[in-house]
Amino acid sequence: MNSSRSAVVVGGGILGLCSAYYLAREGFTITLVERSAEGADSCAQGSAGYVSPSHVQPISSPGMVWQGLKWMTSSRSPFYIKPRLDLDLLRWGWLFARSCTPEHTRRAAPVLAQHCLESRRLFVELAEKTGNTFEFRTEGLFNLCKTQETLDKYSKGLAALANSVGVEARTLSAKETATLEPGARMDIAGSIYFPIDAHLSPRKFMPAMVALLQQQGVKFRWGTGVTGWKTAGGRVTHAVTTAGELAADGFVLASGSWAPETVRGLKLSLPMQPGKGYSLTIEKPRFKFAKSAILTERRVAMTPMGDTLRFGGTMEVSGHDDRVRPERIGQIKAAASDYFPDIAEADFAGGKPWFGYRPVSPDGLPYLGRFGRHPNLIAACGHAMLGITLAPISGLVAAELLAGKKPSVDLSLTNPDRFA
Ligand SMILES: Cc1cc2nc3c(=O)[nH]c(=O)nc-3n(C[C@H](O)[C@H](O)[C@H](O)COP(=O)(O)OP(=O)(O)OC[C@H]3O[C@@H](n4cnc5c(N)ncnc54)[C@H](O)[C@@H]3O)c2cc1C
Repeated sequence: MNSSRSAVVVGGGILGLCSAYYLAREGFTITLVERSAEGADSCAQGSAGYVSPSHVQPISSPGMVWQGLKWMTSSRSPFYIKPRLDLDLLRWGWLFARSCTPEHTRRAAPVLAQHCLESRRLFVELAEKTGNTFEFRTEGLFNLCKTQETLDKYSKGLAALANSVGVEARTLSAKETATLEPGARMDIAGSIYFPIDAHLSPRKFMPAMVALLQQQGVKFRWGTGVTGWKTAGGRVTHAVTTAGELAADGFVLASGSWAPETVRGLKLSLPMQPGKGYSLTIEKPRFKFAKSAILTERRVAMTPMGDTLRFGGTMEVSGHDDRVRPERIGQIKAAASDYFPDIAEADFAGGKPWFGYRPVSPDGLPYLGRFGRHPNLIAACGHAMLGITLAPISGLVAAELLAGKKPSVDLSLTNPDRFA
């Protein structure tokens, strides 16, 4: 324990909370700065809650450029980039396209597998520590495939890739899938089953973490935004906030999709786009599932969360635009009925659509590590579809780096300066 060191964590989303937890465990005196009020929404809250080592394929994968161009013509598609003249978006799009190669997948998959598996282990520890108040469940996840063509493609593609990096994937027939998940009738050709995957209830995880941090003595500055920085001798010395300056030995950048604007002025290059996603929660579902499932062709996620059932998905790259698009909500409901014919539009009655902004880096990998220009500023952002899954390991790594320890996982692909 070294209680003389101090750190400021910027952002009270899941990455900020997990970073603060592991830093406090290292003996740092922590101030967490969050511009929203305590208990306000963040991207984790309405997410699918997957802790998913199955996601070893980064979002920027071979074929995505062509697929993305086709999808761009329809605002109803699962992945939509709203065309607009914006230099940051153009650069992000170019870097994204450049990453959609087999070589990128080959290099990224083992690294993602290592981070995801280590993070899942940390979730088990957190569940034990909190008495599992956040409903962590380890029943696995299905990629449900409507057609035999998709099943064959995923069996040869994602399942083979996952198995090659130590994440077990089994190809199942429709009958075998129904035996493992008898919750509701399914109209599918089969599935890929990932027994190691898990899920949790994010709306319970976030307050559980805040309570843990309070026990650790973490100081919270809710309703306080970081507006700038002070530096000296190549180090960050202060975060300038709407409520004064905060000096510290180390700083963690965990402000999600707003991270590029948070570090404006520090001359860093952090290409990122907000990837808006939606979810709908059925509070009293007629059907009870044990396992979570991705409705593969529609890119919709289904999660049984406690007594509720959540469907979510879509990736809309249209900036921080708070408009709710009804056609996107309609697509999620339609997907649910398509795969589970007994689930009808009426099952969603009364449910309020939620949306959040995933922080999406162009190569689908997080920004995790020191900035070369300011080595006491650690990036823990850009986790895109994997922010829940990777929050504990990223938080642990942020703490290890500020404590001067060897990081627990391979950071060779997550350098925050990689696009500088
Ligand atoms: C529909 C949907 C489903 C998803 N499902 C999954 C899933 O199943 N599994 C998974 O792993 N991931 C999932 N994700 C992704 C995951 O939710 C995100 O990657 C993760 O929540 C991002 O967390 P964050 O802490 O980085 O960002 P955020 O939650 O956005 O938190 C950043 C915080 O920083 C604050 N902030 C910003 N700027 C400042 C500033 N200048 N000063 C102070 N505070 C500031 C913001 O107010 C915000 O609270 C999903 C996302 C969506 C949208």
